Amino acid sequence: MVDLVVRSRRTVTAGGERPAAVSVAGGRIVAVDGYDADVPAAEDTDLGDLALLPGLVDTHVHVNEPGRTEWEGFATATRAAAAGGVTAIVDMPLNSLPPTVSADALAVKQRAAAGQLHIDVGFWGGAVPGNAADLPALDAAGVFGFKAFLADSGVPEFPPLDPGQLAEALAAVDALFVIHAEDPAHLHAAASSPAYADFLASRPPEAEHAAVATAIEAARAAGARVHILHLSAAGALPLIAAARDDGVRVTAETCPHYLTLDAGEIPAGATEFKCCPPIRDAANRDRLWSALADGLITCIVSDHSPCTPDLKRRDTGDFAAAWGGIASVQLGLPVIWTAARERGHTLADVADWMARRPADLVGLTGKGRIAVGADADLVALDPDATFVVDPGRLHHRNPVTPYAGKTLTGVVRTTWLRGRTVTGEARQGRFLTRS
Ligand SMILES: [Zn+2]
Repeated sequence: MVDLVVRSRRTVTAGGERPAAVSVAGGRIVAVDGYDADVPAAEDTDLGDLALLPGLVDTHVHVNEPGRTEWEGFATATRAAAAGGVTAIVDMPLNSLPPTVSADALAVKQRAAAGQLHIDVGFWGGAVPGNAADLPALDAAGVFGFKAFLADSGVPEFPPLDPGQLAEALAAVDALFVIHAEDPAHLHAAASSPAYADFLASRPPEAEHAAVATAIEAARAAGARVHILHLSAAGALPLIAAARDDGVRVTAETCPHYLTLDAGEIPAGATEFKCCPPIRDAANRDRLWSALADGLITCIVSDHSPCTPDLKRRDTGDFAAAWGGIASVQLGLPVIWTAARERGHTLADVADWMARRPADLVGLTGKGRIAVGADADLVALDPDATFVVDPGRLHHRNPVTPYAGKTLTGVVRTTWLRGRTVTGEARQGRFLTRS
């Protein structure tokens, strides 16, 4: 007798989509049988033609609590994530206060998060000038790796590393380093303007190309493992491919906004579209999809990075002054599924990009897949149902979104965390640590 069996004619496993019955006991998947299998279970849920996917793993989320909880907090971020079919996030080390740059700061953050979590949450540490000596203890405390900026981060307490400081950090600890790759030498001060083109021109693709090259050379010299965060400029892809062919351990992610939005269509003053690096043109977007299809970009993560509406300059529409960040942890799955199916990709592709591969990136091999032994983190998705994005139905704290009014395909019906339905009430999430 198992605790739960969930049946779907469209169960998405590593082998693709097939009719199956997924049995759950003790929070884990204990069997994947045929759809009609006779499985004695305390609870038997038949989804019929709704798809059953692994819960998404979003390794790039800024929660901001404590310190800037008015931007986003653990209760709201994890509730929004669950509503979007995300069952695990890894929280970025900056925008909260203190930033997660020491083991003590990690403890402060975990105390703030305790008891609030609708889904499971892990943490990145931060590498900033002067904290190389703190990295081993932070690593031992269970962070999944370290984030570093090569250009201004937007907050004064999390300064960037220069190439020498990056080398020092890579030498300090054997861990995954995740890099915000924009080179300050190629960034220009944006003039106050409601025109998106003015902002875009201030952050040209060369800034990403140069910073990706810096990160690759640092990884090559140290024999270290680096991951390029939120890649926007497709022109950096050949650098990554060449480095990978040379045996350098470098991977890259991109985000729903770079894959689905087009710089040429961003209205004047629409600062909800501002993020760094910026959304580029449609030809660039197509090249990112090609890189996903051939495996050069391994995963899609949200870079959920909200702030309050005043900091987003919703009043003036000034792109230069607005906070850069797009909050989409609740919408990533339908945003990507809508575009992916139009481009001929399958739900199995989407589950690979948004669940299995981000889980693998951080070593969470017991999440992000429907397989025996994995956590029973599951999502029931109606893959053909459509909805219109209504910011009022988003659960994150400040529901400003560039997707407002868009019609998306794919409605999340139910999310299970370790075999239990996630609701607005239960706070069953746990801390994840690198094992
Ligand atoms: Zn980010």
